[in-house]
Amino acid sequence: MSDLAGKIARRIAATGPIGIADYMATCLFDPEHGYYTTREPFGRAGDFITAPEISQMFGELVGIWIAESWQRLGAPLPFRLTEIGPGRGTLMKDVSRVLSRIAPRLFDELDIVMVEASPRLADRQRDTLGDLASRVRWQGELDDTPHAGIIVANELFDAIPVRQFVKTDAGWRERVVALDETGALQFAIGPTGIDASMLPADHASAAPGAIFEAAPAREAMMERIAASMKGVPGAALLIDYGHERSGFGDTLQAMRAHAFADPLVAAGTVDLTTHVDFDPLARIAASHGHATSFLTQGDFLIGMGLLERAGQLGASADETTRERLSAEVERLAAPDQMGNLFKVLMLHPRGTELPPAPRAD
Ligand code: SAH
Repeated sequence: MSDLAGKIARRIAATGPIGIADYMATCLFDPEHGYYTTREPFGRAGDFITAPEISQMFGELVGIWIAESWQRLGAPLPFRLTEIGPGRGTLMKDVSRVLSRIAPRLFDELDIVMVEASPRLADRQRDTLGDLASRVRWQGELDDTPHAGIIVANELFDAIPVRQFVKTDAGWRERVVALDETGALQFAIGPTGIDASMLPADHASAAPGAIFEAAPAREAMMERIAASMKGVPGAALLIDYGHERSGFGDTLQAMRAHAFADPLVAAGTVDLTTHVDFDPLARIAASHGHATSFLTQGDFLIGMGLLERAGQLGASADETTRERLSAEVERLAAPDQMGNLFKVLMLHPRGTELPPAPRAD
C-alpha cells in the first residue's frame, strides 16, 4: 500500500467510507502525498502525455486561435489571457511565441495569468516560461470578476473530481471507497442518493449497475469561467477528452507510465481522471448568456491549419524531422487517436463566430 493509500485507509477506518470525488481530490492534491503536489507526471518520461507536450504545433495553433479571436472580439485592450491548469507551462510558452510574432500589439499589452492549484507545478511553469515568467501572475483560483480576455484550459476538467452514482434495486446510490476485510481499499455502495433532476432524462431505462458521474466541482469551475466573461468581450477554449451528451458508464481511470492502472492501488502515485461530460458545462455557459461551439480536437486543429503548419516546419527539415512531424499530426488529429476522443468547447458572445470556420463537407 502506498503512503497515501495507508493514510486514506486509516481515515476510512476512523470515520467511514468516502465518496469518489473525495478520493480523487485526496489522490491528486493531498498536500503531503498527492499526485500533482509531489510528482512530475507529464511527458514521455512521466505517466501521460498531453497535446502541448506531444507537439509545439498544438500551442502554436492555439496561439493563432487567440490572435484571431481577439480580432473578432473587436481587438479590445487591455486584454487578459488566462490559462487554467497549465501543467508544465508548455502551452503558454508556445502560445506566447506565436503571439509575439503575429499579434505584437496584443502581446505587448497582454495581462497573462496562470491559474494553478499545485504550488509545485507553478514553480515548474516558471522554469518553462523563463524570461516571460516575470510578467505572468500566478493565482491558485480563477478570479471571476468580469474582465475582457480569453481563457484556455487543456485537460483541466478531466482532473477535477466527480461523484459516481450506481443504479441499484433501491434507486441510485453514491459509489464510495471503503475497506475490505483485509483492510485494503475497495469500491462499495453508500447510502447517499441523488436528486432525479440531476440524472440524464433516460435514467429510468438504465440497466442495474449503471454508473452516472456527476461533477459539481467541474460545474463550479465552469460557473466561475462563465461569470468572469459576463458582459465583457471574452472567449474561452476548453479542450478535454469526453462526450457531448451525458450518458452512463464508469470512466474513472488511473494512468502510470502510459498504461492503465488500478485506481485503488498505489493512491497518490498514479494519475486519476474521468471523461468530461460537456453537456452540463455547455448548459452553464448558456445560462450565463454565452454562445457555445463544440467540435472535435481533430476538426479544431485541422481547421486552424495543422497540416499547413506541419508542411511549413517540414519544408526545410530533414527526413527524420518530417517523419516526426507527420507522427505528431496523426497523434493529435487522427480520428482513431486523439482527434475524436478529445473535444473543444468554446464560449463566445452571441453573434460573434470564432475560428476555425466550419468544414464545408
Ligand atoms: N494543461 C496541461 C496540464 C494538464 S494536467 C497540459 O495540457 O499539459 C491538469 C492540470 O490542472 C495540472 O496542472 C493540475 O495541477 C491543474 N489543476 C487541477 N485542478 C485544478 C484546479 N481546480 N484549479 C487549477 N488548476 C488545477
